[in-house]
Amino acid sequence: MSELVIEGLRAAVGGREIITGVDLEVASGEVHAVMGPNGSGKSTLARVIAGHPDYEVLGGSVRIDGTELLGLPAWKRAEAGLFLAMQHPIEVPGVSLNDALTESVCTTSNADVIASRMLAEADLMAFDAQLLQRPLNVDLSGGEHKRNEALQLCVLEPKFAIVDELDSGLDVDALRMVSRRIEEATEHDELGVVAITHYSRLFEQLRPDVVHIFAGGRIQESGGPELADLLEAEGYERWADAQPDPEPAANPFRDPFGDPFADLLT
Ligand code: ADP
Ligand code: MG
Repeated sequence: MSELVIEGLRAAVGGREIITGVDLEVASGEVHAVMGPNGSGKSTLARVIAGHPDYEVLGGSVRIDGTELLGLPAWKRAEAGLFLAMQHPIEVPGVSLNDALTESVCTTSNADVIASRMLAEADLMAFDAQLLQRPLNVDLSGGEHKRNEALQLCVLEPKFAIVDELDSGLDVDALRMVSRRIEEATEHDELGVVAITHYSRLFEQLRPDVVHIFAGGRIQESGGPELADLLEAEGYERWADAQPDPEPAANPFRDPFGDPFADLLT
């Protein structure tokens, strides 16, 4: 049994504090949903945990089984058992998914074992096996990107996975297949999941144990699975005030040839 523990995490990008104090504990086999409005900092949280170098950590701690991840390069965090399925996976021309995965696991498994695992996972997710040989994420459709991320997750078998908007771009059938496969990994392989999304449809197959409402760069409220349905029905308006500092509003367009006194009449 493993544990991912986040305490008092704060982080900034471009001189602006986006993550304003996150505490979260996830145990093996658990699914934690993190739901919140656009721009609330969910992807920033995922990138900070994974070790994206553009983000400045201002304080706090992220540990897997007592190992502090903050300060480690991303690959060491992966070695400690962390995986991030990205909202917008990056294209890596010249490196196939097959090569990337084989390199990732060659220290712990042999290439033949990996090849057969990749094919088995591709089959489970109705993922065209030819995509394994194509350059990573190059010219893939939205749905293929997401299956690609899920396939990597299932082949690499991390202790904890953060999945960021896995549902975006997937059609209903593909979403069902992929989320059921991840649910299975939580049941059989003790995978712990932090699932970031705005929509409760991800949770038809992947059953959350806890739902956290994330706004203003922190968790505002936590509850049971019913919170996901409530949020989808009612939206995030209650937490609108919790948004991080808004970007300065652009000046409204003024027509230089318009009536200069128009404002006075309204
Ligand atoms: P969410 O995933 O909840 O929609 P994000 O984490 O993507 O939100 O963004 C939160 C805020 O942080 C936004 O205002 C976004 O513009 C800002 N932000 C995120 N990454 C960067 C970056 N690399 N540079 C500047 N601003 C960023
Ligand atoms: Mg996001």
